Amino acid sequence: MRIKDVVVREILDSRGETTIEVAIADDELRDFYAQIPSGRSRGKHEAAVLPFRDAEAAAARIERAISGRDFESIKDLDRYLIEMDGTPRKERLGGNVMLGVSLAFARALAFERKEELWQVLNREFFGGKADGPFRPLIFSNLINGGRHARNGLPVQEYMVVVRPRGSYVKTVGKLLRFYEILGDALRLKTGEEELPLGDEGGYATAFEDAFEPVQTLEDLITEHSLSEQFSIALDIAADSLYKDGAYDFGGLKLEAGTLRETYDDWFEWAPHLMSIEDPFEEGAGDDFAALRRDLAGVTGEKWVVGDDLTVTNPALIEKYAAAGAVDAVIIKANQAGTLSEACEAMNKASALGLKRIVSHRSGETEDNFLVHLARAGNAEGVKMGAPHESRVGKFNELLRLEGGMV
Ligand code: PEP
Ligand code: MG
Repeated sequence: MRIKDVVVREILDSRGETTIEVAIADDELRDFYAQIPSGRSRGKHEAAVLPFRDAEAAAARIERAISGRDFESIKDLDRYLIEMDGTPRKERLGGNVMLGVSLAFARALAFERKEELWQVLNREFFGGKADGPFRPLIFSNLINGGRHARNGLPVQEYMVVVRPRGSYVKTVGKLLRFYEILGDALRLKTGEEELPLGDEGGYATAFEDAFEPVQTLEDLITEHSLSEQFSIALDIAADSLYKDGAYDFGGLKLEAGTLRETYDDWFEWAPHLMSIEDPFEEGAGDDFAALRRDLAGVTGEKWVVGDDLTVTNPALIEKYAAAGAVDAVIIKANQAGTLSEACEAMNKASALGLKRIVSHRSGETEDNFLVHLARAGNAEGVKMGAPHESRVGKFNELLRLEGGMV
């Protein structure tokens, strides 16, 4: 397939900040689009994000370079873009621009083949296998802190993990009701009628300390007899707390060892707590591994998850799997900067026995491609924020793709 035009537009994300949409036109001048989300707590090794003016210039260079060329597959196009950029972090062409071109092209292929986006990805990267229905765990961020809120909580995300039971509509319905009862509990506690929300639609009220939100979720899960279906997950996003060898944890300066003891206590006090993402800064693989060893002694399935640590990068995933640092990795296509590399990271992770959680970013768009990526590779989890206005499209796409076949 040939691409004729590559255009970048400036659009708004769910935070009201600017991000980009990439549009390409095929030989017959049909347009295909991709909107790229933007993160606030980004890992150092993520693909670079070019601001709009530079993104426009990069798109013009890509257009000149690829016009008149035929690309057979997404891999074929991505390989060409990666070579053209020539930097490890995609600093010349921008990971946001390259992913936009890669994704819009995948949509053009899907149109040509009369398939869904996930089917095109599944065939090209995951051997065309789509084993059974698609029923990932849902990681939904219900209390926001860190860089996603202004309530002073050091922990960025307090999520519930919902296991599908019966139809997905029922499962998502239960999540919605839980979000409402949590709102009722927080209204009762704070006396506020209008609760502040964070960037991902979770509540962003004030709490006594960093553990209180965990206890609140723990109590509600028990009270409403949801222990079989609901667990709790945290994203500490600890890189944003780290300075000069210590973590600024709710006013306390904690060294890694003390912070690890804090997490050990939390896992002991909150039996529903099952997962902890980025518990230490992004160079601290040894601390991740030490926490994993601690959690091996706690009853139930417990996951240490890499996000800023592994940044959807196959080499880093391999390194930290070998170090015993993680049970699961977050997959964000814009950390990688092309669809090929994001899919390669998913395949690498599963070959190494790691779970994959395909994730949104805190600044989201209406583009629901993350659900297709998760469906294509049959990811074990999806992470999509609260079931609130800015994220509803993602939940609906999940419901649409649940059955698998169209
Ligand atoms: C995250 O850290 O997992 C996240 C979704 O935040 P951001 O998009 O701001 O990196
Ligand atoms: Mg994270």
